[in-house]
This record gives sequence, structure tokens and C-alpha cells, in this order.
Amino acid sequence: MYERVLLKLSGEVFGGGKVGVDPDVVQTVAREIAAVVEAGAQIAVVTGGGNFFRGSELQQRGMDRVRADYMGMLGIVMNCLALQDFLEKMGVETRVQTAITMGQVAEPYVPRRAIRHMEKGRVVIFGAGMGLPFFSTDTVAVQRALETRCDVVLVAKSGVDGVYSADPHVDPSATKFDELTYDDAIERGLKIMDQTAFTLCKENKLPMIVFGMQTEGNILRAVQGEKIGTIVSA
Ligand code: UDP
Repeated sequence: MYERVLLKLSGEVFGGGKVGVDPDVVQTVAREIAAVVEAGAQIAVVTGGGNFFRGSELQQRGMDRVRADYMGMLGIVMNCLALQDFLEKMGVETRVQTAITMGQVAEPYVPRRAIRHMEKGRVVIFGAGMGLPFFSTDTVAVQRALETRCDVVLVAKSGVDGVYSADPHVDPSATKFDELTYDDAIERGLKIMDQTAFTLCKENKLPMIVFGMQTEGNILRAVQGEKIGTIVSA
């Protein structure tokens, strides 16, 4: 079993495919995270925000990119609060730490404090991305994992169950990888995570496991080292 993990949940997980937050889906995810805490592993979560706003999409529709990215980051925080709510209702202690300070709703991002929280069995939920426009939450997930010394990045997907040679929804001949190196992922231009995230993992030899959320209990399975999805390593 991994001792400390960073779980990346993209915005689409929260929205159940729609705009906004689907409480039923968030409850299911919270239950899975609670099971990880119960099993004795330390866990931090980075949430995405694509179920609200993506800066690049708003830019294509005429908005200023920087302002649109800040909207994206604020959307992320709503996902964090929804997840916090369901976890706390299940009796799991949590802390939300945001990269943009908003004292009424969250702590500021203080990595050493985040580590202390995890050591005490609290789930730390990192919100507002990096606090910087032009970044994605994939890159944030890797950066937070490195800074808070997590052993692995777990990438839970709602649409696919691992890394494929091409998008399986578009190309039916796409094949799934059980294992992959970062060099392979970068060379093939695989889009499952952004290239900056892959590069950061590669340079720091941080493994990543990409798996599907379709089967309940997969987050715990990944934490326990069961072979699910695709493992990407340096
Ligand atoms: N964002 C940003 N800086 C960050 C993280 C996110 O500007 O450090 C913005 C960006 O506009 C992005 C949006 O927040 O499109 C939502 O994040 P992301 O697209 O990574 O969410 P996901 O695809 O995981 O749902």
C-alpha cells in the first residue's frame, strides 16, 4: 500500500458530465476517499474545474484569457467545497487549502501544514489550481504531490479506464497500455494529462496511475497497489 497519495479528480467527475456539481456523484467519490483514510493511507486531492469554466474555452468565445483562467480557478473551489461537505458528513476530517486566499472558506496553501494535516489523518483538498493563469490542474496535481512528498499521483477518470494509444471514443482500434514510460507518453503526444505534468513527473521520477472511476472502490484498489488502469513511470 502507498503511504501518501495525491488524487487528481477532473471537473467532469464532479459534474457527472454536466455543468455544475452532481451531489450524488460527489457523495460516491467521497465514500471512496473515506475508504482510503479508513485503510490508513494519507491522501490529498487536487480537483479540476472543467465542469464550470475552462479558460481556453472562454477565450475562444471572446474573453480575456487571464480573467477567464481566474474564473476557472474560482470554479475549482466550488468542487472542493462540495467534496469537503460530503467527506465531513461521513465523519472524515478535511482541510481545503486554496492557492488564491479566501479566508472565509479555506486555509491558504501552506505545504508544511498540509503535510501535518495528512499525518493527522485529515484529507487535504487543494483548490484554485496553482493560483496562476495558463496552468492546468494536471500540472498542479504533480506540483502538489512533489511538494507534499506524495508517493504517487492517482488520476481518476470518468470516461476511460486507463491510457490508450488514441482516444477510444473516437478510434475503436485504440489499445490500452498496462504500463508506459513518460518518454513514450510525451513522444506519442498522449492527451490523458498535459505535457507539462508528464515532464514534471518524469524529471522527478514520480509514478502516476491512470484508472477509471466506473468501478466503485478503484481509488482504494490503486492505493493498495492492485494493478488497475495504466501505470506511467520514468
Ligand atoms: N486554471 C488556471 N490555473 C491553474 C489551474 C487551473 O488558470 O493553475 C484554470 C484554467 O482556466 C482551467 C480551469 O482553471 O481551464 C479549470 O481547470 P482544468 O481545466 O485543469 O480542470 P479539469 O480539466 O481537470 O476539469
